[in-house]
Amino acid sequence: MASVRDLSLLPKAHLHLHFTGSMRSTTLLELADKYGVHLPDALTGGEPPKLRATDERGWFRFQRLYDIARSCLRSPEDIQRLVREAAEEDVRDGSGWLEIQVDPTSYAPHLGGLIPAMEVILDAVDAASRETGLGMRVLVAANRMKHPLEARTLARLAVRYADRGVVGFGLSNDERRGMARDFDRAFAIARDGGLLAAPHGGELTGPASVRDCLDDLSASRIGHGVRAAEDPGLLRRLAERGVTCEVCPASNVALGVYEKPEDVPLRKLFDAGVPMALGADDPLLFGSRLAAQYELARRHQDFTDAELAELARQSVRASAAPADVRDKLLAGVDAWLAG
Ligand SMILES: [Zn+2]
Repeated sequence: MASVRDLSLLPKAHLHLHFTGSMRSTTLLELADKYGVHLPDALTGGEPPKLRATDERGWFRFQRLYDIARSCLRSPEDIQRLVREAAEEDVRDGSGWLEIQVDPTSYAPHLGGLIPAMEVILDAVDAASRETGLGMRVLVAANRMKHPLEARTLARLAVRYADRGVVGFGLSNDERRGMARDFDRAFAIARDGGLLAAPHGGELTGPASVRDCLDDLSASRIGHGVRAAEDPGLLRRLAERGVTCEVCPASNVALGVYEKPEDVPLRKLFDAGVPMALGADDPLLFGSRLAAQYELARRHQDFTDAELAELARQSVRASAAPADVRDKLLAGVDAWLAG
């Protein structure tokens, strides 16, 4: 047994975690009970649901489960609880910095509109950060199933709250719908406002979707991006530009993007020099959190502790964390490896 270091003690940054998707399954059960929401068996079994998102029907099923879970978040107290628990889980997994991703539009109807929803979310992040000591920021994510004008509204909102904890702008949902360039104006607004551009790409569709994120949205990070592995030229480009891929291996396997943990091209990206930040995506639906992603790299892809430490450093470097937090986390990574 060469590897004995505890991966939950390896300091790291968590850059790919969705809001509702971060919920504890026990919390979902309690909230569903509180509001009389009937949960489908797939969300009550204690086991993550069987999903397959490689076709539109499968993705629709995944999205429907996500929507049901989201419908259980109705009051500011629910939002505060969700964020606090997400922070607690992250701390337990060795995270020293969390960037949580949210489309406030989805929570607006219960919280009195888009701006009140944004305020509730940012206050909750502030409070959770103070209570747990975990540095936290927010990425506002537009939904690519909706009209690009809505994305522009969200980008303006995100910029307006840049001094309250919003650090980036994302784009999520089914990559097979719409073109990245439909959202170029929204991303220009976000970038001009000083936010980092971190759209999803290269998950459900191939390398072309990653190229679109680079060419049309000037992405500085890519949500997933794993399908870039199919294009050596693109891997070189990501490596040269230092564009970090927020890789979520357990999510990829749960959604059938790859058959087995061994098939997720972590090794290929790593060896090509593409920086990665491992993330959990939606622990509620995929059944594993942050440290488990590093565990997967160790167990199924033979990442050594030195390599796992390098992955952790890459996550920290790609984060929006201020210099003092980065330095502390990077020193912690060295200490973990030396220990
Ligand atoms: Zn995602």
